[in-house]
Amino acid sequence: MTRSAGRPARGEPARDAPAAAMRLERRKVDLTLRHTWTLARNSSTTKANVLVRLSHGGIEGLGEAAPNVRYDEDWQTVMTAIDLLAPRLGDDPLRYEEIIDRLEASLPGNHAAKAAIDIALHDWIARKEGVPLYRKLGADPKKAPVTSFSIGLDEVPAMQEKVREAAGFAILKIKVGLQDDRAILEGIREVTDRPLYVDANEGWKDPRQAVETIKWMEGIGVVLLEQPLPAADLDGAKYVRDHVDLPIIADEACLTVDDVPRLATAYDGINIKLQKSGGLRMARRMIERARALGMKVMLGCMIETSIGITAAAHLSPLADHADLDGNLLIANDPFRGVTVRDGRLVLPDRPGLGLEGAW
Ligand code: MG
Repeated sequence: MTRSAGRPARGEPARDAPAAAMRLERRKVDLTLRHTWTLARNSSTTKANVLVRLSHGGIEGLGEAAPNVRYDEDWQTVMTAIDLLAPRLGDDPLRYEEIIDRLEASLPGNHAAKAAIDIALHDWIARKEGVPLYRKLGADPKKAPVTSFSIGLDEVPAMQEKVREAAGFAILKIKVGLQDDRAILEGIREVTDRPLYVDANEGWKDPRQAVETIKWMEGIGVVLLEQPLPAADLDGAKYVRDHVDLPIIADEACLTVDDVPRLATAYDGINIKLQKSGGLRMARRMIERARALGMKVMLGCMIETSIGITAAAHLSPLADHADLDGNLLIANDPFRGVTVRDGRLVLPDRPGLGLEGAW
């Protein structure tokens, strides 16, 4: 079979024509929170994230960066990082392994910015192939887990009211770590008997006192505890794990796959977030490493629109626990994607992330 130069077969690009570079747009999005969001570390009523749109060959992919001050990020550092990375994307989104390696090598850290690009690449590829993203990730949507719903720190009556509002959720995640943690959990128990995750966000400092509090929590239906002590205190974490039965999950201590083996000595599981890992590719590697080390896997989130949350939800059938409620904490989510039915995540079955909404 012969073909004259410059006369491609139908559907193929002309061989001599230079392939077009991917186009990456970004825009800041100001999110309004339904409630003031308070953790052991800070408090906020709004959140500035950055959305990205990757265009190539008539197909688009969407992504999101949810920067976190804990990792020295804000929307401006994200914009700067994206502007630096965008010219290095190249001309073929299907070579995403190579692309992500190249971005990693060009800039240390900046995981939220990298997550935005990684998510957009995954959305683009799955849309190109016409399949929902969970198919590309090898995940069974029927196995999508129940998601917890997070109750931020507040006065106890206000936290009780938030628990009542969260009636559709089978598991609640209670933020503690400032003070009066027992009073908070006793107050929650007055209004619900649902299983509880508890997240101290590094708020406790003394391992012995942590053990005492955890032993008390074991008696009131708490099923796991996230990051009781500062991320850097690995010896403290080991001490705690050796003295309690409750599963202890590393969150702030766990960013990428390189952290996982060390954490296996001191924690029972890890909380993977796309915004910490730099996206879905690294999150999958972390799941594999954690499994190999016998650790539990939780898939968590930041305060993100339905872009970021839906991306994580497509991966969630591969996790033991999901805490993917960040979009539900926002009053002005510009997109719709994953939903929650009877407390369980329901994945869209449209191609790619399967989002609805206008860029
Ligand atoms: Mg956490």
